This record gives sequence, C-alpha cells and structure tokens, in this order.
Amino acid sequence: MLTKLSETIYYLANQDEQERPTLGLVCGEQYSLVIDAGNSPQHAKEFLQEIAKLQVPPIKYVVLTHAHWDHFLGMNEFDAITIVNHQTSELLKEWQSYEFDDHSLQTYVNAQQISAKCMEIIQADIPNQDSFQLRTPDIIFEHTLTIDLGNKICGIEQIKSTHTNDSTIVYIPDEKVIFLGDAAYGTTTNGLFRFKQSLLIPMIKDIQKYGAEQFLLGHESICDTAEMDTYWAELITASQAVISPSLDDAIECFKIENGREPNDNELFFLQAFVNDHIVQA
Ligand SMILES: [Zn+2]
Repeated sequence: MLTKLSETIYYLANQDEQERPTLGLVCGEQYSLVIDAGNSPQHAKEFLQEIAKLQVPPIKYVVLTHAHWDHFLGMNEFDAITIVNHQTSELLKEWQSYEFDDHSLQTYVNAQQISAKCMEIIQADIPNQDSFQLRTPDIIFEHTLTIDLGNKICGIEQIKSTHTNDSTIVYIPDEKVIFLGDAAYGTTTNGLFRFKQSLLIPMIKDIQKYGAEQFLLGHESICDTAEMDTYWAELITASQAVISPSLDDAIECFKIENGREPNDNELFFLQAFVNDHIVQA
C-alpha cells in the first residue's frame, strides 16, 4: 500500500526481505513523476497497481537515483520517459548488454558482476526472463535538471555521495521533501562495508543545502530533520576519530575527543571509516 506524505507525494515503502527499495510518486496538475523503477517488473507492477487506485495525472517521468539493480530492473514496466545522470547512463550500458536466462545469470554471479540475491529476484520476478532486455534511458542530464509537472516543481540533481559516484536526488521545494535514493549510505568494496571518508562532508553539504524537512531513503523509507541530524552527527564524530586503518586507534581517539565510549551506531561507523582506510591502502 502507498503511504501518503502530502496531497501530491506518495511512496511505496522498502521491503527488505525482497531487497525492494522505497519508490516515490510526485504528482503535479498535468503529470506525475516516479522515483526509482523497482527491483523487478513484478515490483514495478505492484507499484503501478497501487498508483492506479489513486486519481492522479499520468506518469510522464521516471527518475533513477543510481545504477544499482534494485532501483532500475523494473524500468521496462513504465510507459514513461526515464531520466538518469550521465554516469548512471554509462553504468546501465553493461546491464543493457546482459542476457537474463539462467545460464547467463549464473555466469554473471560467478564473475561477481551480480549478486546471488539479484539472480534469485530476477528468476522469481521477471516473467519473460529468457527474452528480457533492459531498455535504455531517454533523458541523460549533467549536474541538474528541473521539471515542472504542472504547478509542481521537481529539482533533480547529481550530488556527491558516500554510496556511489552516480547518485541523483529528487527535491520537491514547495513540500520540503527530498528523495535521496541510497546516497547517504556507505558502500561495499571487496567484501568490506565502508563510508568514503573524503566524500562525507561534501555530501552532507550537498544534501543540507536544500533545507528539506522530510527525507526518503532507499532502504529506510522516511526520516525527519532530527533523525537525519543525529545520523550526520554520528557519522561526522566517527569520521573525525579515524586517521588510520586501525580500529583500536580510532576508538581510543574517539574516547579522548568525546570523553565517552562510542554508541553502537558510532562504533559501526568507526569500523566503516577504518575499512575505507584499508581499501585505500
Ligand atoms: Zn544502492
């Protein structure tokens, strides 16, 4: 079921057990815009069925927040203009060359091009799997794009991110709502979960400049300003204590700088920044 955020903004909450991210819907007087296309045609279909129950203008645009499979594999289901930034477009080209039959999928899993979970979802939720081909996006933008859905402006912008280099956000200024995709998360490299330390402050600045009051995250649904401020504060405090690939040193430094033990979140972030040093080394 869709959650109604305001008269013009809805979202389908993330479903973690199926690796389904949050999907968004913004409605103007003429057209509607969707944020992320779902992790499969089945996910997209369920979203479209929910939208069909509402009296909203037709979906003209689908914005993909980044080129991770769970955010775009449903894109063929939308009879709409797909919008991506230039880097996302480049990353999607690999997926457009993929075949989706079992044998090909197993080859990609073996080569670690896709995850076993991704293969499982494709096999379960793409009905015509053997002939499936991912379509190409329609609009490729650089930096920023503004769309008017009819008395409803959407700002679409590529921002700096600790998750991927191709992160796009969608901001609806008159509602102070921002769809972040996975931008605010960390990333996994060679099996190590890490936050890219050099991008943390630039990313926070990029996100805070919009003055949003409600934040939709790819795998968390919704956060308010207080929750995001706590999240940023814990990340920043953890980051400041990490200057080497040693977790012990980082914890020691954290205690000296803050006069207390790190909480569970901060400990998790300390490890993630330490992992960033390990990956960079
Ligand atoms: Zn992602």
